Amino acid sequence: MTDTVSSFWGPVTSTTEWCEINYAYSSYIAEFYNTISNMPSILLAFIGLVNAFRQRFEKRFSILHITNMILSIGSMLFHATLQNVQQQSDETPMVWEMLLYIYILYSPDWHYRSTMPTFLFLYGAAFAIAHSQFHFDIGFKVHYVILCLLCIPRMYKYYIHTNDASAKRLAKFYVLTLFAASICWLCDRLFCKEISRWYFNPQGHALWHVFMGFNSYLANTFLMFCRAQQLGWAPKVGYFMGHLPYVKIQKPKSQ
Ligand SMILES: [Zn+2]
Repeated sequence: MTDTVSSFWGPVTSTTEWCEINYAYSSYIAEFYNTISNMPSILLAFIGLVNAFRQRFEKRFSILHITNMILSIGSMLFHATLQNVQQQSDETPMVWEMLLYIYILYSPDWHYRSTMPTFLFLYGAAFAIAHSQFHFDIGFKVHYVILCLLCIPRMYKYYIHTNDASAKRLAKFYVLTLFAASICWLCDRLFCKEISRWYFNPQGHALWHVFMGFNSYLANTFLMFCRAQQLGWAPKVGYFMGHLPYVKIQKPKSQ
């Protein structure tokens, strides 16, 4: 939402804007709620990273959690400034994250070990350069949705091959948070005019960030569980502080 108040970052140059009044609380933060709502994602990714590190999961999971943190920090920068360069620091890691998911989901069945990571790495780098030059708008969204769709069949395969009830619950909450997040995103996008007339703006885009933070955490936890199962590490779902699920493993002595 455009508004004419003093702003530290200058006029809005991003191609997308959200249903929050700009610079309402500070001249340094364009969209206050959309900025601070990334904090839960950073914290969750940090918890995931510590868990992956402590139990010596494969590096791919540490990279995945770090990418989640970069993504959330990029998103904070974008919503705080509403500048085109920062928009890319939000969007480009979104694509990198999906490429990592593709790697984690498909690499166990891939015969040529180094071709897939090399290809995905080059693809990620080429995308970053192309996006910085051409500022894809609708093209970015379509490309992102295609990457997401590529992950779904394999995610579903993992789901039906998992017998553990707690792990299945992770996957169910994953779908639930994705659904809730999408509804919030869409309402913020489609009904902004109506919402702006309300006494109170529910901040749909900020809620999307919060739900997506949990969504990514659940996805990563579920994938860690499935991978640990593939490697014979006897995974179990534990609950941090009684509520937040995480994967506990027991590696065989020889590893
Ligand atoms: Zn956002």
